[in-house]
Amino acid sequence: MSKAPLMPVEDALDQLLGMANEQRLADSELLALDDARGRVLASDLVATLDLPPWPNSAMDGYALNLADLHRQPLKVSQKVYAGLAPDTLLPGTCARIFTGAPLPPGATCVEMQENVEVLEDGRVRFLQPLKAGQNIRAQGQENRVGDILLRAGKRLGPFELAVAAGQGLAQLHVVRRPRVALLSTGDELVEPGQPLRPGSIYNSNRVLLGHWLCELGCEVIDAGILPDRPAQTRLKLEQLQVSADLILTTGGVSAGDADCLGQVLRDNGKPLVWKLAIKPGKPLTVGHFGAVPVIGLPGNPTSALVTFGLLARPYLLRIQGVDDVMPLSFTVNAGFDWHKAGGRREYLRVRLEAGRAELYPNQSSGVLLGATWADGLVEIPENSTHNLGDPLRFIPFNELF
Ligand code: AMP
Ligand code: MG
Repeated sequence: MSKAPLMPVEDALDQLLGMANEQRLADSELLALDDARGRVLASDLVATLDLPPWPNSAMDGYALNLADLHRQPLKVSQKVYAGLAPDTLLPGTCARIFTGAPLPPGATCVEMQENVEVLEDGRVRFLQPLKAGQNIRAQGQENRVGDILLRAGKRLGPFELAVAAGQGLAQLHVVRRPRVALLSTGDELVEPGQPLRPGSIYNSNRVLLGHWLCELGCEVIDAGILPDRPAQTRLKLEQLQVSADLILTTGGVSAGDADCLGQVLRDNGKPLVWKLAIKPGKPLTVGHFGAVPVIGLPGNPTSALVTFGLLARPYLLRIQGVDDVMPLSFTVNAGFDWHKAGGRREYLRVRLEAGRAELYPNQSSGVLLGATWADGLVEIPENSTHNLGDPLRFIPFNELF
């Protein structure tokens, strides 16, 4: 058998993002803010309000015109609570004012209540030097009407949705959900809740990826478990290609006899990615069935996790129009020695302890439990060894959701 060189992770990512750029979803839908979390903005969000809409007080205290300071103590001529419309400040007086309340026209500064003396007759003496504009939140200090607040392609989380709410928007245009057919392959698989047969195991990948896809704004078409039979595999893909934007599978992409998914993909076209220089996850296969893209993840749960997070996730965000699809990463120091250089880039489950990356003791690709213990992945570059304390790239798991 010929030993083709393995494809570097960057090349696979380039292929996937190239494919995604051609498959960007054009349709959008209007959603209530409460339903838009995790979705991607379809058009720029342009401000229709200045924020704040009027100058207001940053403190509980007293608003005055600085030009009146030489006439102190000043009489309090009005009380302005948040939510009230103030009167113009009477010359020679000050206003009692509370945080967030609109500044009375004519006032030029606010003094906090701790720095004033209230005399017995109710007049107010200012005890500290004052500056124009002090403790005033200027109109439009956050944004002006017409400013672009969020660009199309922004993923909507609590911060973005709150910004939209601050503009008074109850709905947003978001990119429609990608429809992802999720298929688990393997004769050995049984769904949780069913009795385990001799030689069978429970299907954990369907749950792992189903939830992850939802987090990424996808609509999951649950295509169940597929036995390792080429004819059934072909039939299933033919059915799924009608409704899916992407067919995402696990298992059956190695080079064994029972690995018919990879076989069917290779028979029905040229896979773009096949055999990756990554550990875990080497048998990742990417291609098309008919016109529909297929990402075939390896079956081992941790291989599926790593390849989904590093490769399928960026693809799914990009087809929704997200530009910046790469997870944030940063350098941490190894809490271990790594003396066996490997030809594949390796991703290890680690936990950060006292600033160092500590290894989960069992790094087997079949062991999923390490992911629940770990904070993320450290990357061991190809053909490299490392000593305790060496810098390594760390990708937190929460960046992958
Ligand atoms: P495969 O990629 O099909 O060769 O599978 C590799 C390993 O992952 C085998 O030990 C499978 O039993 C296991 N595996 C495959 N699919 C799943 C799944 N959906 N859930 C849990 N384990 C799986
Ligand atoms: Mg299998």
